[in-house]
Amino acid sequence: MTTDTVQPGPGQPSDALAAAQAAYDALKARRLGLNMQRGQPSDADFDLSNGLLTVLGEGDLRMDGLDLRNYTGGVTGLPSARAMFAHFLDVKAENVVVWNNASLELQGLVLSFAQLHGVRNSTGPWFTQQPRMIVTVPGYDRHFLLLQTLGFTLLTVPMQPDGPDVEAIERLAADPTVKGVLFVPTYSNPGGESISPEKARRLAGLKAAAPDFTIFADDAYRVHHLDEEDRDEPVNFVVLARDAGYPDRAFVFASTSKVTFAGAGLGFVASSEDNVKWLSKYLGAQSIGPNKLEQARHVRFLEAYPGGLEGLMQAHARLIAPKFRAVDETLRAELGGNGEYATWTSPKGGYFISLDTAEPVAARVVQLAGEAGISLTPAGATYPDGQDPTGRNIRLAPTRPPVEEVYTAMQGVAACIRLATEEYRAGRRG
Ligand code: PMP
Repeated sequence: MTTDTVQPGPGQPSDALAAAQAAYDALKARRLGLNMQRGQPSDADFDLSNGLLTVLGEGDLRMDGLDLRNYTGGVTGLPSARAMFAHFLDVKAENVVVWNNASLELQGLVLSFAQLHGVRNSTGPWFTQQPRMIVTVPGYDRHFLLLQTLGFTLLTVPMQPDGPDVEAIERLAADPTVKGVLFVPTYSNPGGESISPEKARRLAGLKAAAPDFTIFADDAYRVHHLDEEDRDEPVNFVVLARDAGYPDRAFVFASTSKVTFAGAGLGFVASSEDNVKWLSKYLGAQSIGPNKLEQARHVRFLEAYPGGLEGLMQAHARLIAPKFRAVDETLRAELGGNGEYATWTSPKGGYFISLDTAEPVAARVVQLAGEAGISLTPAGATYPDGQDPTGRNIRLAPTRPPVEEVYTAMQGVAACIRLATEEYRAGRRG
């Protein structure tokens, strides 16, 4: 996309800027209070799962022969929950640990154990080896925060329409201090890209200098299709890694945070059976076991939901798909589809849309939007240390507000993009 195609004749620059300023002033006068910032479900999404609150009664003290009120059962999770989320991740129950309320904690635990002890193929703890971890950009700010907090130095590779730049990963993995890659394989945060089967196979079989190079796949949006027919097929890194001759190479994480209740659901992880044993050893040192009552609640609720988990996800899609359409339609109507002001992704699932402004004005757009009462994810958040070297990327999170508000907010965001762009172009012309 080139930005030099705009060659206004005499008088035009100030006209375009003045028009953009007038539209922005009108937006500001509306004194909106809209939030397109965090990827949270809407209340209507939550309401789909209110049955969770009453699904267990005094008759449900046991499941799988275990007393749910007692310590019994070990650290890998309730067998019925393991079976259910094994199906979710397309693996066997033996390959799954179902843990507590969310997946980020589980990612943190696995990465912490790797730092302290190394993983199965390690020669020692990672923290003594100045470990580096590859992440995709634009990406998820909490991945960057988690990794940096645990002592990893981050290396970035671009997220492409068919997944991470695997060639770039191969080049970086020639260094033995590069211990792996953490990314979102399906409907990525923020661009909604999914890794292709070819790239996934190549990544699973990659020749790395580190014997313990590990794929950390945060498959948070694996089942979050917007359309049951026109969808991306999630890949299976546990099987791909095994078939490539690296059975312990992959950990795949997910949760029910965007299925039932955010932060009040279940986080789980799939890997080789040996890695499940490795993880269980360390989990078992710090916990007698996860909350089985929550696991039983989810099993009962999701089993009873019409159409099961898939039925629930289709109900979410009916609520969320119109919001994604609202973003795309409004941006197209306000900014055109030729990239003069911005380009953006049109994901088939997940929770986010990634927008790149034509000029490096993302921070100014977010500032203008904030002053007009539209809260956007801070510019730069999609890059480590909040530093976007392109100055162009903005993450849009349309799931939380009602659909009418998404339309209004996106009209406002478009006005901010126009003004920021015209300001920048006027400045460049001097
Ligand atoms: N991973 C990704 C990619 C996410 O987008 C989010 C939520 N924004 C999470 C993890 C958080 O998941 P959990 O609530 O299971 O920790």
